[in-house]
Amino acid sequence: MDSIIKLIIKWSGKEYELELTESETVSDLKNTIHKKTCVRPERQKLLNLKFKGKAPDDECRLSQLKLKPGFKIMMMGSLEEDIAEVNTTPIDIPEVVNDLDIEEDEIAIENREEYLAKIDKRIKDYDVKILNQPREGKNLLVLDIDYTLFDHRSVAETGAELMRPYLHEFLTAAYEDYDIVIWSATGMKWIDEKMKLLGVTNNPNYKIMFHLDSLAMISVHIPKYGVMQVKPLGVIWGKFKQYSHKNTIMFDDIRRNFIMNPKNGLKIRPFRQAHFNRSKDEELLHLSKYLKYLAKNCNDFSSINHRHWEGKCL
Ligand SMILES: [Mg+2]
Repeated sequence: MDSIIKLIIKWSGKEYELELTESETVSDLKNTIHKKTCVRPERQKLLNLKFKGKAPDDECRLSQLKLKPGFKIMMMGSLEEDIAEVNTTPIDIPEVVNDLDIEEDEIAIENREEYLAKIDKRIKDYDVKILNQPREGKNLLVLDIDYTLFDHRSVAETGAELMRPYLHEFLTAAYEDYDIVIWSATGMKWIDEKMKLLGVTNNPNYKIMFHLDSLAMISVHIPKYGVMQVKPLGVIWGKFKQYSHKNTIMFDDIRRNFIMNPKNGLKIRPFRQAHFNRSKDEELLHLSKYLKYLAKNCNDFSSINHRHWEGKCL
């Protein structure tokens, strides 16, 4: 007989009960989750669903997973409506990224009229929800999430397991000299959720000024790579005049994200394979020293070549 399995999906602070049969597959499970939560199968990350230590294939039968009755599956995933405009946005940046190391193209792209017009449009139309007010005399730090603060691809029971080491120490130290903005190429609900999961949102030791999502990005055409979504700092500078190229730095694991502001971006090493690298990764520890160095010694952040950041903070 095909016996029934009852499961619980935990997503976005809520729990959903499901009933499936043992002969159904992971693909059937995802479709059932879709019906309950409206999160499409391809957007579902079932964090603790494992077969032989890895995320199971869609064809895998539920009987093979040996799930206990009432097993609680932790899901991450965003709703289609949250990522409305994003048909062209890389929600899930491919594992192998064609990252750019093009310097000759950068200047040309940075000043192109049509891109400046797009930035103006974002300044006017994009609604920033301030979480904490800007502070007098602070610099600005803009941070990517995926692979910068968080390994969003590995499988884990809790978000904390995927957090980059020293995250809270890093943000605490940075907050002394910088107002902090989180900017991720996903939807806002998803960003809010991740920041809660990581314990950033309500951390007593620092405050995030605001979050920006994919809708604050613009698309640019890069001759060698085609049309790509990028994060122009001009959107923030246009809305908050106290920040500029002189006092802003952006950390991202993908260089093209700051192609509009190459002199104010620092490409960090991506944090991947959290389980393997958690005990070794010290990137944030070193970067917090670099932030101190900039705050103390530099009147114009764009005058320094951030590619050589490590030499400045040993
Ligand atoms: Mg990233």
